Amino acid sequence: MEIKYFDAHTHAHFPVYGDDGNLIVEHAASAGVGFVTVGTSKSTSADAVSFAEKYENVWACIGLYPGHAVESSRDEDEYGILEKKDMMPAEPFDYDFFKTLAESKKVVAVGECGLDLSYGETEEKIEAQRNEFIKQIKFANEIEKPLMIHCRDLYKELAELLITHYQLPITHPPIIHSFRGTIEEAKIFLDLGCYFTFGGVITFPPKKNGIIYADVINEIPIEYLLSETDAPWVAPVPYRGKRNEPAYVAEVVKKLAEIKNVSEEAMREQILKNTKSAFGIEF
Ligand SMILES: [Zn+2]
Repeated sequence: MEIKYFDAHTHAHFPVYGDDGNLIVEHAASAGVGFVTVGTSKSTSADAVSFAEKYENVWACIGLYPGHAVESSRDEDEYGILEKKDMMPAEPFDYDFFKTLAESKKVVAVGECGLDLSYGETEEKIEAQRNEFIKQIKFANEIEKPLMIHCRDLYKELAELLITHYQLPITHPPIIHSFRGTIEEAKIFLDLGCYFTFGGVITFPPKKNGIIYADVINEIPIEYLLSETDAPWVAPVPYRGKRNEPAYVAEVVKKLAEIKNVSEEAMREQILKNTKSAFGIEF
């Protein structure tokens, strides 16, 4: 198939899709969409790799989500667990396990990992996230793959960790997924050569006192932009509220083109080019 669009961050292998995995990939393939399905723990990373290995237009990202580096409640869509209130114990980053997974040629990035203040009620919980993130920075250096970063609120702190622990020069710049920081914070990551991937939320009308995504995106050169869905969550307009899937990523590309005031075709082609260099893949 010819890949025309790329979803850089999605979770097509999560249990929320049940038996629809094949269908989701078929929808993506008929829309010309390739994608990276992202793990969040040992089990969901192993599933991401076996899922990616089945399909030509699918790649995998493996790592430990900051919410899983501490004790936290389970997400039903992610784990298919019915008792939603169950707490999941902290999972340390298991180097040997991930090192073995990374032997698959389908593995193109490390994450989603980072820092998230909503799982950081105490300094201990932030410290635990920091420690697991540092291990993954080192791991990404070692296997020469980009980091897929998830961050909420703690952007300055995250940048400091990258500067301290990333081997410089950065040959595989990190990818900041669903960036929600300020323009000043975006500039710190641009100086490090990071890519930014945006999803369905940029198609929503801005919330009162919320982030104006267009303002941030306008500060990011087009060469550093990627598109994503973060499916099953945050489906873009006009699918808002539905179960999201990678096939919808064209709506995000359309919105990015509108914000950057370029043609949809120019944006689509630029994103494909950026995707190939960000993940070091050919298609
Ligand atoms: Zn995600």
